[in-house]
Amino acid sequence: MELQYPRRIALARTPTPLQYLERASARWGCGHRLWVKRDDLTGCTLSGNKVRKLEFITAHAIDHGYDTLITCGGLQSNHCRATAFAGAQLGLAVHLLLRGDEPDQADGNLLLDHLAGATVSCYPKRQYVAEVEALFRQWQQHYDGLGRKALAIPTGGSDGIGAWGYIAACEELAADLGANQIERAHIVTASGSGGTQAGLTLGVALHRLPATVWGVNVCDDAQYFLDKVAADAADWRRRYPQVPELEIHANVLDGHVGAGYGVADEAVFGLIAELAALEGLVLDPVYTGKAFNGMLAEIAAGRFAGCTDIVFMHTGGIFGLFPQRSGFTAW
Ligand SMILES: *Cc1c(COP(=O)(O)O)cnc(C)c1O
Repeated sequence: MELQYPRRIALARTPTPLQYLERASARWGCGHRLWVKRDDLTGCTLSGNKVRKLEFITAHAIDHGYDTLITCGGLQSNHCRATAFAGAQLGLAVHLLLRGDEPDQADGNLLLDHLAGATVSCYPKRQYVAEVEALFRQWQQHYDGLGRKALAIPTGGSDGIGAWGYIAACEELAADLGANQIERAHIVTASGSGGTQAGLTLGVALHRLPATVWGVNVCDDAQYFLDKVAADAADWRRRYPQVPELEIHANVLDGHVGAGYGVADEAVFGLIAELAALEGLVLDPVYTGKAFNGMLAEIAAGRFAGCTDIVFMHTGGIFGLFPQRSGFTAW
């Protein structure tokens, strides 16, 4: 099958390694082999899963005459930080609409947003939730009035364009499985805006990988992500009508959100510290720490019985660790 990709700009350092976690497998694998796809290594400041989506989104922006990128997220959004650096590297202006009151001191991703020269507008949570769509339109009109053209990128870069990032990543995963003689695998990823899961789910079907994709939701619930994956897939098909007909099935591992988005409990902080010392692999409390913790709980409960290999997508997020330093009570 000949898959016609839209143009992309090479922003990510790929292929990323697939790494075997020998000691983590022994400690938590219950007989499974645990692997990690190192998408935290797609770059340094321009890093994590969002870079793969931005390769296609920025090409779309440039090819359609946009000179400015507007996107949105939490104060510590990895997606916003990655967009800020993608813009700076490509000479595009970036305007970030952030959820929450501007703190006295910028830390983590927010500090990096400023360093990358992004314009940052912070909105109180209630206003953001109620008005973010209107704010996008308002700022687009503002730039329009200046004779500029601003592209509105949705939360997480998750739409039919961004989906290509993880559709393409599945070609890497196919090679990774082959190179390591992995005959079947479960692929587990954190799901926040659903785009990574949508891309992987489409990509596994398109490239016929012998794999099942699971999203561990870090907010909302299973139904939300089933709907979101379907919506992203529908947007993808609408934008690229020539793509092959596909039947996709999304899988969500719900029950690991804890107290809410961005709020991790002691077990997650403990796991982050334990894994860092055991394997030299650093997770974050918002996405990957929760997802890895959830994956271990599902392994222990026998969810993946009958399949040896489990691939955890390390989607990045290290800068979100520093503003949550107080979660590590030992130091
Ligand atoms: C955004 C993000 C995710 C979730 O990806 P989505 O495509 O938004 O579901 C997971 N991990 C990290 C570190 C992220 O920044």
